[in-house]
Amino acid sequence: MNFSTENKIAVRVSQLFKSYKNGTQATRGIDFAARRGESVAILGANGAGKTTFLRQLTTELKPTSGAIEIFGIDAIANPNKAKLSMGVTPQEAGVFETLTVREHLELFGKLKGLNKSQARTETGEILNDLELTENAKKQVGELSGGQRRRILIGLALLGKPPLLILDEPTTGLDPNARRTVWLLLKQIIASGVTVIFSTHYLEEAEQLSSRIAFIDGGKIVKSGTLEELRATIPNKYRLNYLNGNERIALPHIKFFADFAAAQQFIYAKKISEYQLATTSLEDVYFSIVGKSLSDTGESEK
Ligand code: ADP
Repeated sequence: MNFSTENKIAVRVSQLFKSYKNGTQATRGIDFAARRGESVAILGANGAGKTTFLRQLTTELKPTSGAIEIFGIDAIANPNKAKLSMGVTPQEAGVFETLTVREHLELFGKLKGLNKSQARTETGEILNDLELTENAKKQVGELSGGQRRRILIGLALLGKPPLLILDEPTTGLDPNARRTVWLLLKQIIASGVTVIFSTHYLEEAEQLSSRIAFIDGGKIVKSGTLEELRATIPNKYRLNYLNGNERIALPHIKFFADFAAAQQFIYAKKISEYQLATTSLEDVYFSIVGKSLSDTGESEK
């Protein structure tokens, strides 16, 4: 690989293994790269290894073996240097309950190396973007779960880092708050920041990512754009239908390679109540990983 191509890579991971003390092998040979400006969704069921993978990227967890480079820096040998270019949502436990929201953001801004006036300006911007200005004077401990989540995202944004690593950024948010966060992340992605985020919300992956990586059993089993992933499965259409004489609430599901085949089936079976759509990301995930996203990934492979 020549230098100019290499320079476009924000994150490169090879053969990343992590075994916890109790013997659980949570990541089992992850190979991964994100180009600068990409937004990559790490999609997987509970227990698939998403958090373990991301905590190794943020240098919070030391890999058992493997290599991680962040903007060309060896993140295992130089974690502090690698962290300078990252915005990370801290663990809930790292939040100071008695500080006000504004004080909290300003403090973390200073810890990130901003001077007093920069910390104040950025805090104001972030509170505004996350629709938290009204809560600026509240103590963090008084906030609702959704507001706390937004604060955690705000902390990651301080210092305008070129790389954001976000573990399930909108879990626990109500739909409105989720959309606020999506809108903000979309702007951030559009400005050229590289974002790697985990999620188990398909819509979130579709809305925010330029590429999706499926993780299962501690490995990335497939990655690509939504269209690339869709192209790897033979069935392009999903038909949900009810048979005429049935009085059941749950429709039958059948997959078809093309639109004409689905229409033919509808005609031949004289189906009048149906919904025909292109396969969803959930269908694609199921076809590739062999289980539903809501399954736990705890079983040994
Ligand atoms: P995900 O984020 O996809 O839900 P995790 O990375 O949290 O997956 O977990 C992957 C596997 O590692 C699971 O089997 C989980 O039970 C296990 N695991 C996670 N954290 C620990 C830990 N601190 N000690 C032991 N096992 C762990």
